[in-house]
Amino acid sequence: MIAKKPAWPNGAKCAVAFTLDMDVDSFLHIEQPKTAHELLCTISNCRYGPDVAVPRILETYRKYNLKQTFFVPAWCIEQYPYAVEAMVKDGHEIGHHGYIHEAQNECSREDEAYWLKRGIDVIESFCGEKPRGFRAPLYHSSNNTADLLIAEGFTYDSSMGQDDVPYLLKSDTGDLIELPIHWGLDDWPPYVHMPEIDYKMPVKPPSEAIKTYREEFDAMWEHGGLWIAVCHPFVSGRVARWMEVEKLIQYMIDKGDVWFARLDEIAAHTRRDMAEGIFDPRVVELPYYDGPVTIQR
Ligand SMILES: [Zn+2]
Repeated sequence: MIAKKPAWPNGAKCAVAFTLDMDVDSFLHIEQPKTAHELLCTISNCRYGPDVAVPRILETYRKYNLKQTFFVPAWCIEQYPYAVEAMVKDGHEIGHHGYIHEAQNECSREDEAYWLKRGIDVIESFCGEKPRGFRAPLYHSSNNTADLLIAEGFTYDSSMGQDDVPYLLKSDTGDLIELPIHWGLDDWPPYVHMPEIDYKMPVKPPSEAIKTYREEFDAMWEHGGLWIAVCHPFVSGRVARWMEVEKLIQYMIDKGDVWFARLDEIAAHTRRDMAEGIFDPRVVELPYYDGPVTIQR
């Protein structure tokens, strides 16, 4: 089913990463720059993330002895440092997620480079090391993103979805490991109803929503793939939803032979196996197109 399978550490059947994007209210100020500061009720729901959900999530990770990856816009690190301090203290990875959740494909190359660098500086001064990984806010990578990440020394990206296992993003300036994601494992579609930004979805009961995650996991376990959930503390960290996540973690542990890892560990493992000739990943060359696709009549 999966053409090129990695050899996961210790003979594991699949790799698993529960990534959490702690966006808080950053995206609101990008969507509605003039009025977002007055959306008190929405902001309060977003702040549930750093204030209530993150401590709960970290408690679960301590209980199961898991080290995972959090993607945090740098502005959120500055606004909600207590939540990020707690993540770093517990040994979790902090990945770059824009400065204030800006869309890379709506920035000029110069602006994108500026905000990327500014975010790196915040993470480096806060965590003591540069970020190794990047996830484009809203999955809005630009044609310049891979080049800029390579120039800044990033080892991986986790915004795209062209395979079931790690693959290589190649541009003129070098390459980058891609740790693929897809909307099916993002918690916004089953859980978020936010009319303020015109995002309206029927909210699913947690027992229903978690089925998607479990079925996707079962498939990756059977076929040797990489399972990456894209969750958000204020979304999946609510009590009933997080109870289901805990049950899923227990289910994975009981099933056995699962490698739970931070994304930087998965990227490093992929590089090592490539260097040793154990894994020959798909290579995707960027950009896909040099300009708009036009069809002549
Ligand atoms: Zn985000």
